Amino acid sequence: MAQIPEFSADQVQAFMDEALVEARRAGELGEVPIGAVVVYNNQVIARGHNLRETDQLATAHAEILAIEAANRALGSWRLENTALFVTLEPCIMCAGAIINARIPAVYFGAVDPKAGATVSLYQLLADQRLNHQVQVVSGVAAEESGALLQDFFRQIRAARKAAKAAKLAADDDDNSPVK
Ligand SMILES: [Zn+2]
Repeated sequence: MAQIPEFSADQVQAFMDEALVEARRAGELGEVPIGAVVVYNNQVIARGHNLRETDQLATAHAEILAIEAANRALGSWRLENTALFVTLEPCIMCAGAIINARIPAVYFGAVDPKAGATVSLYQLLADQRLNHQVQVVSGVAAEESGALLQDFFRQIRAARKAAKAAKLAADDDDNSPVK
């Protein structure tokens, strides 16, 4: 029987901190900063961070990579008695992987109103029509998780704006009568 691991508030914070470490690693690579870890017997047994751009893989989400690493670590596709910690609400694909891996508990940070599939757009992990339901705890270190994302997108917008301004300046030069 799958058991839902029980954690103290300090443990929840500590495991989410590990997911945040992974999120920052993604950010350092220029990836959208999202990180995840899988916990088993009160230990982090697998980690993952978003590598979609680096690997040019649509499936390279933090959760998928962490789940795959946990499958390898335990030598099993079943991740019963584990818990997944992720900095952003899982998408449809990742919710599907969580169900298929039989993970009993998911803790996530920021909600994702545009793509979230566990509380926002869909509640896949609580769908009684499926043969596996997942305990979901939302809003763990949500501020820190969200701030990482907001800072990232702010930088992207600033870089785009700067690039646009530089291009305009270059175009002006081209039009200059003095060459
Ligand atoms: Zn995902």
